[in-house]
Amino acid sequence: MTETEIPDDHPRYASLVTRHRIEAGVEQGITSKQGLIAQGRGEAFDYLLGERTLPSADAAARAAAATLLLADRPVLSVNGNVAALAPSETVELAEAVDADIEVNLFNHTDERVRRIADHLREHGADEVKGLAGDGEIPGLDHARGVVDADGIEAADVVVVPLEDGDRAAALAAMGKTEIVIDLNPGSRSPRTADVPIIDNLLRAVPNMAAHARDLADATPAELERVVDEFDADAALDDAEAAIREGSFADGDDE
Ligand code: ATP
Repeated sequence: MTETEIPDDHPRYASLVTRHRIEAGVEQGITSKQGLIAQGRGEAFDYLLGERTLPSADAAARAAAATLLLADRPVLSVNGNVAALAPSETVELAEAVDADIEVNLFNHTDERVRRIADHLREHGADEVKGLAGDGEIPGLDHARGVVDADGIEAADVVVVPLEDGDRAAALAAMGKTEIVIDLNPGSRSPRTADVPIIDNLLRAVPNMAAHARDLADATPAELERVVDEFDADAALDDAEAAIREGSFADGDDE
């Protein structure tokens, strides 16, 4: 079944489209096979969350937008799952907050970075970083720590969707302000983040862009207030409570 053949009144439409995009990403050499496993984990958590954006995740997306608008050198990190699932949405977010886009892969190969960069350009990106590989994240072995010197290495704020815990911790140790999108509130990366967004990246990325557009005329003091009012621990607790207390019927195929 292709994406256009999935009937849009199917009760699991969003989930089927997501699976299809990841599968297509693997076929195009954009997404790694491990990306399929990450997708499966994410889908399970999304099901438990009721496949919706919690109010606490919406507040996180707004705080993330304000953080990005206040940043001097914001960078959106893109891996194979992000590129397959939300390429246009990522480009639109980068435009809304004036951020760079950098391809940054856990299983790095130049070939896959190039394919992802091409894919992002096909979806409207001008410049895509990640191929220079002349910088590093200290504390990780070379293959996992390679970044661009004028990209993630020099960034003050980084958005890392679906990041693995070690790299999230190493980026935090570099002093970066980190925005993590992840559906699992118990995963180490959102627990390391300054702003954890416990939501599906397919919903979170456009939501951040919408908040950024809404906040475009806000003063720095107003943006600071949005950031200060956000409580990361409370947002993680809220998502965990929603999973523990949720009823299967709410997120089921009705
Ligand atoms: P950590 O080392 O931080 O504990 P992990 O081992 O949980 O990370 P992976 O096994 O690589 O990390 O799993 C990828 C993560 O990405 C999972 O936490 C999963 O919930 C999340 N994820 C997968 N797909 C999506 C998606 N579409 N939107 C948001 N999060 C997702």
